[in-house]
Amino acid sequence: MIIGIPKEIKNNENRVALTPAGVAEFKKHGHRVYVQKSAGENSGFSDKDYAEAGAELLPTIEAVYDIAEMIIKVKEPIASEYPLIKKDQLLFTYFHFASSEPLTYAMMEREAVCLAYETVEKPDRSLPLLVPMSEVAGRMSIQEGAKYLEKPMKGKGILLGGVPGVAPAKVVVLGGGIVGTQAAKMAAGFGAQVTIMDVSLPRLRYLSDVMPANVTTLMSNHYNIREAIAQADLVIGAVLIPGAKAPHLITRNMLKLMAPGTVVVDVAVDQGGCIETCSPTTHENPTFIIDDIVHYCVANMPGAVPYTSTLALTNATLPYALQLANKGWKKACAENEELKKGLNVANGKIVYKGVADAWNLPF
Ligand code: NAD
Repeated sequence: MIIGIPKEIKNNENRVALTPAGVAEFKKHGHRVYVQKSAGENSGFSDKDYAEAGAELLPTIEAVYDIAEMIIKVKEPIASEYPLIKKDQLLFTYFHFASSEPLTYAMMEREAVCLAYETVEKPDRSLPLLVPMSEVAGRMSIQEGAKYLEKPMKGKGILLGGVPGVAPAKVVVLGGGIVGTQAAKMAAGFGAQVTIMDVSLPRLRYLSDVMPANVTTLMSNHYNIREAIAQADLVIGAVLIPGAKAPHLITRNMLKLMAPGTVVVDVAVDQGGCIETCSPTTHENPTFIIDDIVHYCVANMPGAVPYTSTLALTNATLPYALQLANKGWKKACAENEELKKGLNVANGKIVYKGVADAWNLPF
């Protein structure tokens, strides 16, 4: 199959969909890979790296779309890319169709075959192509939280790990899923005193088994949250209710329970946030202050660490991409239920119920 890797053109997107190691894998299986020049440079991969791995470099995005049977990307195509997409061209990328009606209609009109990373699903209902980005955001939330706790960043001026003779910071993590677990591990590694809260007792049991001694598990309820945040220096929002907006576990009124300079990092901001006062921010302007509480609410946290994010994402996507290239999408989806769940658009029609429901389209 002929594979095309365009350079991402969405604002501030520095990741690339395939690494030179991925190119070598495709070549080993007899495929041809065309990479747009400088596609990998913001993730630390040069054109020379790609050429040495066996890719052919093309000067423009038009040339890549023109030649490829399968386009592998990171973010959904933006409007300027729509006219480049050809009938029956296979696109494998994050789409998030339910949040963009124009994108949904554009892909139907272009008669593209759209396999969405975010709906590829394992039998245990986990989403293997979302997990790596949650891992990145969870680990990063502590790094960012530690930074904004510094006084010049308007935080309390407290060092996460303390020093001998001085107590460490107190970190409260709301939600003990992928993001929350990674956040708690990182905070614990810094030496902070960590409380991780979830509504799932089995999850709390698991966390209690695997976490180090400086992590305490606590049932998430209104009473316990009020008590915990009153003591906290750093609060991480990491709650997810699948298919729904995040619940506002910390309301505006509750901000006054926290001391001035407390930092909240609401990773769940992409689902509306679990702190009522959170609204999405960008890497250029990541924080704002309400009632003396520093809010960090960047909606695409992994974008700031493209080297790590690209490797983490491509580790997860490559095995699926190889199946698509080796078998073609029809056979690959027929033989692999996980990939079939990723299919959102085919033959000009929506083939994923959640997307059809979102825009009142036939399914
Ligand atoms: P997950 O499903 O692995 O974990 C969510 C956890 O929340 C579950 O353990 C669940 O039991 C728990 N939960 C549900 N209701 C709760 C409540 N009332 N109190 C406490 N816990 C509760 O999800 P995840 O992969 O960890 O993702 C968490 C959020 O982070 C999602 O909204 C995701 O979209 C977001 N995210 C954001 C970024 C970013 O850049 N901002 C990046 C990756 C993921």
